[in-house]
Amino acid sequence: TNIPSSRIIQQTDTHGARNYHPLPIVISQAQGVWVEDPEGRRYMDMLSAYSALNQGHRHPAIIAALKEQADKVTLTSRAFHNETLGQLYAQLAAYTGKSMILPMNTGAEAVETALKAIRRWGYDVKGIAEDQAEIIVCEDNFHGRTITITSFSSAPDYKRGFGPFTPGFRIIPYGDIQALEAAIGPNTVGFLFEPIQGEAGIRIPPAGFLRQARELCSKHHVLLAADEIQTGFGRTGRRFACDWENVVPDMYIMGKALGGGVFPVSAIAASPDILGVFDPGSHGSTFGGNPLGSAVASAALKVIEDERLAERSEELGSYLLEALKSIHNPLITDIRGRGLFIGLELAVPARPYCEKMMEAGLLCKETHEHTIRFAPPLIITREELDWAIERIYSVLRVS
Ligand code: PLP
Repeated sequence: TNIPSSRIIQQTDTHGARNYHPLPIVISQAQGVWVEDPEGRRYMDMLSAYSALNQGHRHPAIIAALKEQADKVTLTSRAFHNETLGQLYAQLAAYTGKSMILPMNTGAEAVETALKAIRRWGYDVKGIAEDQAEIIVCEDNFHGRTITITSFSSAPDYKRGFGPFTPGFRIIPYGDIQALEAAIGPNTVGFLFEPIQGEAGIRIPPAGFLRQARELCSKHHVLLAADEIQTGFGRTGRRFACDWENVVPDMYIMGKALGGGVFPVSAIAASPDILGVFDPGSHGSTFGGNPLGSAVASAALKVIEDERLAERSEELGSYLLEALKSIHNPLITDIRGRGLFIGLELAVPARPYCEKMMEAGLLCKETHEHTIRFAPPLIITREELDWAIERIYSVLRVS
């Protein structure tokens, strides 16, 4: 006796704020790459909750960790120690190569944490005069929705009516190394960037940009802060998208798949000369580093490594990219991606195509107006991908 989808959607619309425009589908069950609605229709998830489900829905090892920890203790606050956070720190330190970790919950909080760390480092270590620190960011960035992050967005929709904004940011065109060099001044303390812009439509910077940005930041004593919230944990076919150019940023900002699609867990990782700027009282979060989330994140990270999800993503991503490139349709203007992180750009709005994909059994979401993002869980098999490719062909191919 499931409540029908139409009733659920109506219920949601009655009291819900309208800050989202979801496709008209209710997901009531999920396992791996598959989801089901209350009427029993099955779909393949090609969005992975914006890359938070790299390990697939309800991965057994992650759910087992959740249940085991739920039976012990779920929340202590950071006023006390818990048994699982130290283990997560050790795993994240090994995974990132950075020896200091700071846990938070959502991506936006992790970015805020990074901005605070960068600024305080600027004053305490670099010696910038009070309130003069500047952080460089990129046009079309997406780093979250708080007021400060919104302050340096270049998208009018994200900003309208939300001022006054936080000062201290400079925007350069994405991937433009000359602009980065020109923007760096004596008060510059950090460069915050996405190694591939996800929300902007899977935009990959020109080859060499990450490496050159690394060199410039080192030369000018500016912190390079990589927002790997969407691109990290194997999504692009590497551990981190920075690995594509063998670049080691000063700071990794992580979220989404760190929580295994189960629990919001985010973190930043850096060396102690950077994260050491925080002392007790300067930063925190009631739920950050909680035992339940930490147990889940430990298991989530283990799945990424044990199941070699980065390698899978690279192999299956190339396969999917080739399959998409073989589609004949004059409306397709570009197809680009790394690993299972692929954007297909159309000359026309993408939304109607996402609706047709849904009817064919595939859940995709447009990003910006013209791009369809294909980002299935990284545990997807070749057979499941072939099933998806058939459906994509049925919607996009013109003969
Ligand atoms: N940074 C990047 C690159 C993202 O893609 C996102 C979410 O899409 C965020 C930050 C914000 O994460 P959250 O929605 O968990 O606050």
